[in-house]
Amino acid sequence: MIRVSLSYLILIYLLLMLGPIFGAWLFSEWRRQRRERAAFRHILRCKLCAGEYADPTSTILPRCPHCGTLNERSGLSRL
Ligand SMILES: [Zn+2]
Repeated sequence: MIRVSLSYLILIYLLLMLGPIFGAWLFSEWRRQRRERAAFRHILRCKLCAGEYADPTSTILPRCPHCGTLNERSGLSRL
């Protein structure tokens, strides 16, 4: 028989109960961020006029429909 102190037993119980919840939270957060990145993949912000527009093409320098500036393809940064 394995002797375990009460505090160690409580720690094991908490790890077993909270571990799956923490893992599910991490998994759902990973899925949410992945969906968000996929949704904003083609959304660009113009460097000159700060207008946002969608460009589903794969051109390297998409042209802003508002001012006509060529912009580099970089994702939107989150605040
Ligand atoms: Zn622009």
